[in-house]
Amino acid sequence: MKIIQTSSDIIHFVTFAKSQHQTIGFVPTMGALHQGHLALLKQAKAENDVVICSIFVNPTQFNDVEDYKKYPRNVEKDIDSIKSLCDVVFVPSVEEMYPTISNKMYDLEGLDMVMEGKYRPGHFNGVVMIVDRFFEIIAADYAYFGKKDFQQVVIIKKLVETGKHSVRIVTVDTVREEDGLAYSSRNVLLSAGKRKEAPFIYQTLLQAKSMACKLSPYDIHKWVVEEFTKNNSFKLEYAAIVDAVSLKEIKDFKESQEAVLCIAAFLDNVRLIDNLELYKK
Ligand code: AMP
Repeated sequence: MKIIQTSSDIIHFVTFAKSQHQTIGFVPTMGALHQGHLALLKQAKAENDVVICSIFVNPTQFNDVEDYKKYPRNVEKDIDSIKSLCDVVFVPSVEEMYPTISNKMYDLEGLDMVMEGKYRPGHFNGVVMIVDRFFEIIAADYAYFGKKDFQQVVIIKKLVETGKHSVRIVTVDTVREEDGLAYSSRNVLLSAGKRKEAPFIYQTLLQAKSMACKLSPYDIHKWVVEEFTKNNSFKLEYAAIVDAVSLKEIKDFKESQEAVLCIAAFLDNVRLIDNLELYKK
């Protein structure tokens, strides 16, 4: 596995692979790699000749400087854990990705204004900025994203819809620990005691799913909010039952081809997000 740090070297690598008619799968990550990331890499490896994984903690997607500073980083361990799963790990510096200060604004048609976007203003503009830059220098055939970040996938698909990049987006199911907690780089920030309580989010999502179509989205949402209110360990930031394409909250399951319940909640000071499809036509 090659370690590449500059855009000129990665462009060179990609150009050569393309000249050999090799397909390229690309997996962007922020490191602190876990089983969720590995699932993306495994799928990319199964479907492509060459796999590139990027590890880059992107400053422009953090609306809170403290959150950026405390984001877990362990590049050496990460590189070691993916040796057998990718051909290139791309670990650029901030200066390499942002040679000039960029304040480019993307029109994401309001998809970036709800849920995560509402509580983390500017977050998705930063995500799209870095993914746009990655897609410019890594002309992959396929790029892999996890459903764990459901809203992010919808927004990246919107970026690709503009026709600027020819990459195809592949989504990968959320990988969970045995007790149901979705793998996340932030889970390591939980104390042992709080970690035991964390599966509450997934349990609530599952119970909500069992009510889908028997109760209205309004009633299920109300029930979810009540469950979180009863649990003193969690502070619910939002719960929303949305259409999987428009991300608009739905009033009736019949309105939507696919409805997803998305939740963000704090457990101690650790912000956890998760989601589950409640209904699909
Ligand atoms: P991150 O490093 O958190 O930016 O995540 C990099 C990629 O891994 C994103 O596409 C995430 O959606 C995906 N990912 C993170 N956690 C999981 C998980 N538990 N299951 C599947 N994919 C995940």
